[in-house]
Amino acid sequence: MPDTPRLHLRSRVARADGFLCRDTGAVVPPIHPSTTFARNDSTYEQVGGRGYTRDENPTYEIAECLITDLEGGAASCLFGSGMAAIATLVQALQPGDHIVAGKSMYFGTPKLLKEWAVPWGLGVDLVDATDIGAIAAALRPGKTKLVLVETPANPLWAITDIAAAAELAHGAGALLAVDNTAATPVLTRPIEFGADIVAHSATKYLNGHSDVLAGALVTARADTPYWERVVQLRYLAGPVLGPFEAWLLLRGMRTLFLRVERQCESALSIARHFTGHSKVVEVCYPGLQSFPGHEVARRQMTGGFGGMLSLRVAGGADGALALIKRCRVWQRATSLGGVESLIEHRHTIEGPDTPTPPDLLRLSVGIEAVQDLVEDIEQALAA
Ligand code: PLP
Repeated sequence: MPDTPRLHLRSRVARADGFLCRDTGAVVPPIHPSTTFARNDSTYEQVGGRGYTRDENPTYEIAECLITDLEGGAASCLFGSGMAAIATLVQALQPGDHIVAGKSMYFGTPKLLKEWAVPWGLGVDLVDATDIGAIAAALRPGKTKLVLVETPANPLWAITDIAAAAELAHGAGALLAVDNTAATPVLTRPIEFGADIVAHSATKYLNGHSDVLAGALVTARADTPYWERVVQLRYLAGPVLGPFEAWLLLRGMRTLFLRVERQCESALSIARHFTGHSKVVEVCYPGLQSFPGHEVARRQMTGGFGGMLSLRVAGGADGALALIKRCRVWQRATSLGGVESLIEHRHTIEGPDTPTPPDLLRLSVGIEAVQDLVEDIEQALAA
């Protein structure tokens, strides 16, 4: 039973869209592990309009409805991971189509484009997506079918102007897809700025508890041939989430607003605290007035600037690795968006060809007491 549209989005999300089981009175949606759904005996019609779980499952549908609602889209599809969602976005294009994408993004995305999309027969140009002129110069009208950006973008948290990128993409006959993993729909709803598709690693903030691998695509319009190809590809290739994971994702999403608000507050405090620190060369955080993309971020992020920041520390790679080894509260682990704070030397993870500076430590701010997080880095810097 969906909530009345009069409720605020944060209320609808907290209430799992007002779920209530009429038979049992349960207020928590159930998990439907069934892989197959029966047809009835008289007409041989599907009982609930579903046939097989690679295509549809009631547990996915509740999570998809919430994600669609969160992003203000027309429809969404869950995937088994964020990369499965992004790979589907790319595979739904046709050989010969051209993609313009940011060169500074979660490192798996440019890697997928360069090493897999190009051999599949797609043209790819990777550009500095903070520079609207660079996006414009790379577009090939009639050929470019997809512009793909991430904002704020891993691991420097650089900002792309979504409205300007959408206008350019549409002018060239392309779609704009925005990886909204780091901003989350709590802070930015790219469709409101003209984006056609929103991508998520739902493994991160949407789930929020580091216990589910998941991805999602949301579309502004469900009636386009491109979206139909996305939906069909998920059905045919099967990169879908399991019902248990979809249920955990749904449970995590119910606290999304609380978590993200707290994470933004703490990230801003940490960014301000370490700005100007004698052992910190640079703090990369869109909420700082001195940050290059701050003005654009203010226009397209509401209520905060995200829970992700990076510190570039004195002493290059050695300084960064020495600091990370001394952390006691921050967990030395990859990923982001969970309730526990994580710190990572991305240069080690991404390998020698990475553009990520060797002195950079990526911080995913959790919901712990911010004093503990600040003191832990202070003691690690002081040692
Ligand atoms: N997009 C962003 C911004 C990410 O940070 C990640 C992973 O870290 C991905 C996509 C890939 O998501 P997943 O690990 O769920 O496949």
